[in-house]
Amino acid sequence: MEAERETKIFCANCIHCKLVPSPAGAGRYYLRVRCDAGKWRKKLGEEKIYKYCTVARRSIDDCDCYEDMGDGPEFLRDLRTSLPAADELYDAPCPAR
Ligand code: SF4
Repeated sequence: MEAERETKIFCANCIHCKLVPSPAGAGRYYLRVRCDAGKWRKKLGEEKIYKYCTVARRSIDDCDCYEDMGDGPEFLRDLRTSLPAADELYDAPCPAR
C-alpha cells in the first residue's frame, strides 16, 4: 500500500493548482484552490474548488495535465506545516492612499 501512495500525484506540486480568493462580503475573503486545467469537477460537471487548508490532501493517481513545479518533496512537507488548520477569513488589503 505504501508504494501505491508514493506514486500519487500531489496537485499542490502542479503548476495548474492555483490559489484564488473567494469573496466573503465586507471586503473579506476566503482562500480557495482550483485546478486551472479544469480537472476538478463535481458529478454534474460544475467546477469544484477546495478550501486552501486542504490543498496538501489533493492527490490524484494519474493526470495528463500534471506539470511539476520543480519543487522537491520538502515543498509538500513545508506546505503541510505552514497551512492554516481551518478555513480562515482574511481582510482585503487597505487601498493605497
Ligand atoms: S492538472 Fe492534474 S495534477 Fe494539476 S492540479 Fe489539476 S488535477 Fe491536479
